[in-house]
Amino acid sequence: MISQYREIKKKYPDAIVFYRMGDFYEMFFEDALTAAPILEVQLTSRDKSAENPIPMCGVPHHSATNYIQKLLARGIKVAICEQVEDPKAAKGLVRRDVIRVVTPALVGDPELVSEEATNVLVCLEEDDQKRIWVATVELLSGKFRLGFVDSFRQLLDLFAQIGPKEILITATTRATKWFSDLISLFPTMAITQRNFPQQATVEATAVAAIRTYLRETQKLDQLPHLEEPKALFESETLFIDSTSLSALEIARSSSVGCEGPTLFSILNFTFTPMGRRKLKEWLEHPSTSLHSITERLDAVEELVSHPLLSENLSKILSQIRDLERLTTKTALQLAMPRDLVAIREIMKFVPLLQQILSGTSHLQRWQRLDPLKDVTDLLEQALEDQPPATLRDGGIFRETFNPQIAELRGLAWNAKSAIAAIEAREKEATGIPSLKVRYSKVFGYTIEVTKSHLQRVPSYYVRKQTIAGGERFVTEELKALEEKIFTAEHKLKALEEGLFNDLRKRVADCTAVLLSNSKVIAELDVLAAFSRAAKRYGYIRPVFHSGYELKIEQGRHPVVETLLKAGQFVPNDTYFSEADCRTLIITGPNMAGKSTIMRQVALVVVMAHAGGFVPAKSAFIPLVDALYTRIGSSDDLTRGRSTFMVEMTEVARIIGCATARSLILIDEIGRGTSTYDGLSLAWSLLEFLHNDLRAKTLFATHFHEITALEKSLPGLKNANVLVEKWKDEIVFLHRLGSGICNQSYGIEVAKLAGLPSKVLLRAKEILGLLETQAQRANRARNRALDFHNNQMAFFGVEKAPE
Ligand code: ATP
Repeated sequence: MISQYREIKKKYPDAIVFYRMGDFYEMFFEDALTAAPILEVQLTSRDKSAENPIPMCGVPHHSATNYIQKLLARGIKVAICEQVEDPKAAKGLVRRDVIRVVTPALVGDPELVSEEATNVLVCLEEDDQKRIWVATVELLSGKFRLGFVDSFRQLLDLFAQIGPKEILITATTRATKWFSDLISLFPTMAITQRNFPQQATVEATAVAAIRTYLRETQKLDQLPHLEEPKALFESETLFIDSTSLSALEIARSSSVGCEGPTLFSILNFTFTPMGRRKLKEWLEHPSTSLHSITERLDAVEELVSHPLLSENLSKILSQIRDLERLTTKTALQLAMPRDLVAIREIMKFVPLLQQILSGTSHLQRWQRLDPLKDVTDLLEQALEDQPPATLRDGGIFRETFNPQIAELRGLAWNAKSAIAAIEAREKEATGIPSLKVRYSKVFGYTIEVTKSHLQRVPSYYVRKQTIAGGERFVTEELKALEEKIFTAEHKLKALEEGLFNDLRKRVADCTAVLLSNSKVIAELDVLAAFSRAAKRYGYIRPVFHSGYELKIEQGRHPVVETLLKAGQFVPNDTYFSEADCRTLIITGPNMAGKSTIMRQVALVVVMAHAGGFVPAKSAFIPLVDALYTRIGSSDDLTRGRSTFMVEMTEVARIIGCATARSLILIDEIGRGTSTYDGLSLAWSLLEFLHNDLRAKTLFATHFHEITALEKSLPGLKNANVLVEKWKDEIVFLHRLGSGICNQSYGIEVAKLAGLPSKVLLRAKEILGLLETQAQRANRARNRALDFHNNQMAFFGVEKAPE
């Protein structure tokens, strides 16, 4: 057995082999030493008395899922090695083989991952022009993407966004300059090295490498759910980079260690897992196609104005399970009887959905569902309503489905009732009242007699086993019946397994249709969720146009408003136009609400592009191509970058990528260096964004000097979040007014934060001194300027700048 194990292990050197023995998966040698501490199972040894006992450990096969998850979480692959012939039929050692390799990225069984998991595998190749080709695949959904990035920095951005679980590398990737940096920046990513054959182009090599690796691990020639590679960067989507996704808390909270609310969480009125994934996709990659945005908004509007339609749709959606993952499971031949029953039950809702949608005006597009009547009927005729979880025990098919099943079940049943009759008959014949016919896995059917009655046992009883309270016997008759049951059940199991594999293949043949149905249902679910959110929070339909103007009347922050009591959130207006206001500089004390208003503009834009209604009284929205943010300050020490460096890198990226159609949020810039350095950078950046890029920009700052730009740059406006001072306290109005805020109120806010009065009083004293000094310096500077200008005027030179 160990030599069989070694043969198999040789082929899977980079995986832990789960070697099936009876009801356990055993691990040996190095695998056992690695896995035992991770799995927290006892490390034992085989052949303990031998000179070099073999280290081993094991896990029960029925709870293997938990153990496999633990290994995957550490980036370790698992090769599942099963008995591939019936042990009872085997001559000598049972044949075993690896039936699948589960890797951190390639998990086909939905039970091994969370509902929202997107486990992505990437393969990278560099071409002659130093472009990095990226092929990505997601086994769970079959999404396959291919494209290139121009620089290592772009690659890092992309990786931050997709968070690949595993990287497939070839000899050529390994040789590239940036490779070791990449690996050290993403330490939890599993690495798989192979020498895949070169194709005509590097991108073809990457695609072929992924296909080969999938076939190798899934042990399948065909993966019917895998799509043909599509463009990595979809056109027609509003680009939001990973920094902005977290800064705006679109689907992940930026607060460390706590699950704070996000835009996704407050809009998540979906019912189905596919709907939840689709909602996340639409929010993280909103559309820029006016056609599809309008289609979605029309549908949401119809649902909002027809409560009965929305209710009927919800009733059905709430009963639909994860069709996408069930389909993938079937395509990978992993589906069990209950999974096919689940698909059947979901498909029964399709005609109902079509019926509901048939009477609508704007939801017709989502009627494009295929009820797959043939297959659904077949599943209905074939499968029991509550079949077992595995193929092991039979009982999968309805008797009416196949006459042979009925016959074999009849034989087994008759033999079993004959055995049941034996108990009564023998009790009477022997006069032993406690006589029982028992079944055990090892000894089969036996007649059990307690000690006190052993003298009454007839001579044709053959002793089989001694137990604590008596003896167990068999008879020729019992053996014959047992043989009948065994043969019938054995045949039945083989028959049901064969029929099930055929049925599963038949369903797998419909993968494309099932996935398309799943997509339609997911979209319907999101549209219905948008309509429910609209009603619940009082959202309105945004109006799109192809110009520059952005006008939000009484906009609200969709997440912050849910955290406050009703009516407490103060709505604000925002307005951008190409001639009058491309840049809005926002000043105001800390805690006044600068960040909130900036983010609310971005979130309203995102929600509208996703096709949802928005929190405002009215919203006039232009098509936006990308959203860039420079928000918050944090070191990125793992990448060796200080706060200031992070800031400047983000700014460089914005300048490199933004266009006049972009929306840019800059919340504080240049605070991490000396005041003059920072101010000069912020100033010149703002000039560049305003004059050269002409993007819509919201710029929050504490550098009051910058507000002077309003005078010299047409289309640049100042706004400030209003506060009032009441006695010694500061009152936040959270209202955006025009003009500038002259005072910082830093000390007042620090007081709110609970700083001791000694520190506050001293700060006030210092502030007074600094202000007097600054005033004196200003007066001196003005006198010097006057003197200089007079001198220059004498020589006929123009005035010096103020
Ligand atoms: P800092 O300069 O310190 O970053 P800020 O001016 O950006 O502060 P925010 O973080 O936007 O301030 O807001 C502070 C808090 O004020 C928010 O957490 C929220 O509770 C409240 N707030 C902000 N805007 C509003 C509003 N429009 N209506 C009601 N409450 C608001």
